[in-house]
Amino acid sequence: MNKREFLKLNALIVGGAMLNPIPSFALFTPQKNNGDFLLPDLDYAFNALEPFVDAMTMEIHHGKHHAGYVSKLNAAIKGTSFEGKTIEGILASIGPEDTAVRNNAGGHYNHTLFWKVLTPNKNTKPSAKLTEAINQSFGSTESLKERMMAAGKTVFGSGWAWLVLGEDRKLAVLASSNQDNPMMLKISPQTGKPIFGIDVWEHAYYLKYQNKRGDYLSSIWEIINWEEVSLRYEAALPKPKNKELFEEWAELNDFHTTMSQTFHPAEGGDLAPIKARSKELAQKAATLAKSSIPAAFSTPQIMEAVQQLERDSKILSRLTRKRKTTDAQITQSLTALHGVFHKIVGLCREGMH
Ligand code: MN
Repeated sequence: MNKREFLKLNALIVGGAMLNPIPSFALFTPQKNNGDFLLPDLDYAFNALEPFVDAMTMEIHHGKHHAGYVSKLNAAIKGTSFEGKTIEGILASIGPEDTAVRNNAGGHYNHTLFWKVLTPNKNTKPSAKLTEAINQSFGSTESLKERMMAAGKTVFGSGWAWLVLGEDRKLAVLASSNQDNPMMLKISPQTGKPIFGIDVWEHAYYLKYQNKRGDYLSSIWEIINWEEVSLRYEAALPKPKNKELFEEWAELNDFHTTMSQTFHPAEGGDLAPIKARSKELAQKAATLAKSSIPAAFSTPQIMEAVQQLERDSKILSRLTRKRKTTDAQITQSLTALHGVFHKIVGLCREGMH
């Protein structure tokens, strides 16, 4: 963090605004209080991606196809164990036998991601970190393009081509059929965190390109939102260690251990750890709030943020014990708590320089 960003951060904290600078891997999929999913708006007009994707295709694709997945998903999860879960939670837990949920949860997630990784803005570029990872795995961005195009062309019938961060922390290109994706842990032969995907269903290109899927795949390359793909890549990476800081402040380290063992599974859709350990997390926050803060970190901002951490973790703990709480509410509360924790870590790091 540079000085300007640090001042901006302080200004926001003093102003009482909630700041969460840590990008989360979880896709923002709007849900109603009852857990029903909603069709997210596009960030651009239907005709904004012309001439690469035509306005009518976009309008039908978003307003009919995607909307259809959302309403069928809501109908399919009614009264099942999937009701109230986040989209990531559903994907992680469905089996091949849950056909309607599989097709429509996949359809909703895949399209939500797809709209985000496209843009009319011509000036986006992969970040330095992502460029390095692409070069390491594929040699160049050009060969990544060839791999994605080959994956898209070899899908027989309908499906997707994916760029994912694999379990081995390396980038890989995968293909999937229908609305399957690499987040479906019990279905996908290879799993990973998708950072970019291309829809190769005919409904994505037929009006303009007819049977020329290759031309469509090559056009998509002109409208990739590299900024979004880079953010998704960094959010998918395992978080860096803050070894020195945690050695100096044992109670913060202790809180961090439980936080990372519960937050990271939750990012992948598994809320079992946080549900089982939210009380322990709140106790650790209480211990942290009572601990003597090492002199270097003893600033009003850090003290205030630690108090906030204690309050928010109590709220989360209470939420997880209520019967009517949805997974989406738990995820939201945990993500906010994770943001407060990183605010503390960021402020402490600044104190160490
Ligand atoms: Mn589609």
